[in-house]
Order: sequence, then C-alpha cells, then structure tokens
Amino acid sequence: MPELPEVENVRRTLCGGLLGRPIYRVRVLRSDVVHGQTGPAGLLCGQKISSIERRGKQLALVGENGRCVCIHLGMTGALVLAAARQSRPEHTHVIWSLPGRQLRFQDPRRFGGIWTFSHHSQLSEQRWRNLGHDALSIRSCELMKRLARTRRCIKAALLDQGIIAGLGNIYVDELLFSCRLNPFCPASTLQGKQIQRLVRHMRQLLRRAIAAGGSTLRDYVDAHGHRGSYQSQHRVYGRATKPCVRCHQCLSVATVGGRRTVWCSHCQIP
Ligand SMILES: [Zn+2]
Repeated sequence: MPELPEVENVRRTLCGGLLGRPIYRVRVLRSDVVHGQTGPAGLLCGQKISSIERRGKQLALVGENGRCVCIHLGMTGALVLAAARQSRPEHTHVIWSLPGRQLRFQDPRRFGGIWTFSHHSQLSEQRWRNLGHDALSIRSCELMKRLARTRRCIKAALLDQGIIAGLGNIYVDELLFSCRLNPFCPASTLQGKQIQRLVRHMRQLLRRAIAAGGSTLRDYVDAHGHRGSYQSQHRVYGRATKPCVRCHQCLSVATVGGRRTVWCSHCQIP
C-alpha cells in the first residue's frame, strides 16, 4: 500500500502536469469508486486545479472555486498522467481530460476511492477530521499526547491513522529499527525524550524515502509512471530471519496489531 513517501511523490509529480490547467471533460467508467456528487461538476469539470494537498496517505485536488476531490489510493490505486492517445490500462475507473493530457485513476483491487466535496472546509470537517496530524509535520508534544491515551503497543499505535497519519507497515518497521524501539513496547510508557527522538528519526526517514521516490514493492508508480527505489535501503522490512545490519544477529518476525512485523530483538530494546 502506498504510504506517505509514495503518496507525496504522486502529489509532487502531479503538480507540474495539473496546476493551473483547465479540466474540460471527466469520464467515470466505474461509478462505485466515486462517493458524493458523482456528476462532472463534482469532479471539477470546467475548472482549473489551484492546489494539490496531501494529509497522511490521502490526496486532494482543489479547484479554483474551492470544490475538491479527495483520492485514497488504497492498496493498488494509482494516479497517472498520460497522453490522450496512450492506450488505457484495464482497471482505469476515472479519466480527467486536460489540454494535451489525461489524468487517470486506476485501481485493480478497488480498496481505494474518490470522495467529492463542495468545499475544502467540508473535506476538513468530514473526511479528514478523524485523521491524526501528518507524520511529516507532527510535533513531539502532539504525538506524546496521543500516545499517552492509547493502551496499545507502539507498532499498533503508529499504524493508527487517527493517532498519526501517513505511516504504514514498511515505514513503522523501519522507524522503530532506526530509533531502537521494540515494537511491543506499550506506547503510553514512552518518555518525552524517546518521543522527541522518534519524531526526529521519523522526519529523516520520510525525507530520505521521499527523495528516493518512495518504495516500490510490486506496482507502485508516481504520476509519471516511475517506480521508487527506497526499497533497496530497507533495513528490516522484508528481511525477516536475515542478519541485522547493525549487530548481525538474526532478525525476528511476528504479527503485531494484525501486521507482519520484522525487528531486531538484540538492538531494539523493550
Ligand atoms: Zn540488531
């Protein structure tokens, strides 16, 4: 599933191709992926895109009149810019036509979707209200407040989009390894200094992953169709039972919060 670094790369690669350009036609090929007002006006037809925002793993295309379209890529969703003459892949569900190009929403497994809002404030008050602060900008005092209220372990808490938005299984495992925290550690027992360190490592990790174009495990591509390369820098994710890059002991694997978790039981202390 695309996480913050992948979705941020989609946002950045969309900006050049979309900002300030008029959408003159919208075609919905599969209506059950669109929620809310599904007509052309709801999907920004006739408008220019004035900004493209991201909160956690979700994107929003904001029209010049304030209307907006929120897109969640889910497991296999992609937003791809293509020339109109370029053949359309199977599982293309929505097509926005702009001068010289199209924006296509593709999603083979359909865990993603599109939500329309008549104003940006509606998006903030409804869909984004229950999301925690974005992982790239959250401050340690805000994270500390939220972690203090949960009885879950740190791995499960960081995966909870209501506590902090943007992290998924890859970057939580990489982050906990980076700051030597054990995934089973109860989140509410972390001290202020540990949380400050966690936030510092999180920013560094996410910035590096964004700079590498994100991680492509199977099919993730940005809006230009480019794959990410950060997977070659993963230190624990996908490396179960291999030697730890720090202490050379065998990495452990278990299911935590319903997700496969890889960590080093020697250098990630409880
Ligand atoms: Zn180790």
